[in-house]
Amino acid sequence: MTNEPLFNVAHIKLRTAVEGPFARCCIWFQGCLLKCPGCINPELQPLSPSHLCSLSRLTGIIADTRDKFNIEGVTFSGGEPLLQQNLWLLCREIRALGLGIIIFTGFTPEKIPQKIRGHADLVLAGPYIAARHDDSRFLLGSQNKQIIEFSDRYHDQLSYFEMAAHDIMEEVCLGEAEIFFNGN
Ligand code: SF4
Repeated sequence: MTNEPLFNVAHIKLRTAVEGPFARCCIWFQGCLLKCPGCINPELQPLSPSHLCSLSRLTGIIADTRDKFNIEGVTFSGGEPLLQQNLWLLCREIRALGLGIIIFTGFTPEKIPQKIRGHADLVLAGPYIAARHDDSRFLLGSQNKQIIEFSDRYHDQLSYFEMAAHDIMEEVCLGEAEIFFNGN
């Protein structure tokens, strides 16, 4: 038995160019309470356990990915990453690896926990509102979504999100850059 913090992980892509600026590892967490109509990942809404990964295991995966795929940072998506109680601890470990952190959340900016504010670089905040759907910005989904900088790490990269969604080429995954879990 471990007393380590556990994270409810649905899926990990080890290297991607379409989840934020630069090459990134992206982690999708399982569970979201908002149930936005038109959610792009409805299968990630149930709060049921998916793959429960310890802090050390996730940190190890990310460290190996940094060395193997030369990533610049990590993106958290979901589901709702901020439902993971100890997410700030994972952020702290990732920053210690020299990597940047981008978080997609349905939380509005004022609901972002203080510990996350101190450990993330960029947060794309707000629920998806179908009536305000926005194809003019990449990855942001709807016009209400706000880009919040908690450091200046990505300040010169914000134009990444100004690309029109339809201008982005679909990413072809070659398999090696994905993790499918076998047990925990
Ligand atoms: S916050 Fe995101 S994951 Fe949650 S229901 Fe809304 S669109 Fe889906």
